[in-house]
Amino acid sequence: MNSTFDVLAAQLAEVGRHCYERGWALGTSGNFSAVVRKEPLTLAITTSGVDKGLLEANHIVAVDDHGRVVQGSGRPSAEATLHLAIVRSRGASAVLHTHSVWSTILSEATSGGSLTIEGYEMLKGLDGVGTHEHREVLPIVETILRGHPEAHGFLIRGHGLYTWGRDLADAKRQIEILEFLFEVMGRKRGMAWQQ
Ligand SMILES: [Zn+2]
Repeated sequence: MNSTFDVLAAQLAEVGRHCYERGWALGTSGNFSAVVRKEPLTLAITTSGVDKGLLEANHIVAVDDHGRVVQGSGRPSAEATLHLAIVRSRGASAVLHTHSVWSTILSEATSGGSLTIEGYEMLKGLDGVGTHEHREVLPIVETILRGHPEAHGFLIRGHGLYTWGRDLADAKRQIEILEFLFEVMGRKRGMAWQQ
């Protein structure tokens, strides 16, 4: 029987290849993680330098709450501490980070400290959102999450999106939703700029 780590490693590799195929994590960009165990905190996470289109389960390692490798071989993603911080502050079980064109453009096109998306049917795909009247505020930050307890993700300026979920399927669904909304927002703003 496979261990929890083995199952999650295979699932993370599949999610990573999917994000590559969608153009959200080209080349070696992006990193993906899932909680193996809460006590003591153990996280399965992609190793650095791996082409996401070729991601396999053996490119995933388990790290402890200090980011030290406890299972598998390879160097964990340089952004492992950020994944651990999100798991701790959000109680998330999976964290996905992409470098899509739209998240990069929108993270720079917004002058304030956040991107607001409201009024779209697709918002209902986010965890706990039951109406399109929802107002999603995605902070554009380095590590500050405390000021936005309701956010489903955040953008790093000129870099990309972080989102998370109760499990890997939840996080994957939210990345689909947010990337859809980013493209809508980006194209709409592009049209407005041309007018
Ligand atoms: Zn990154």
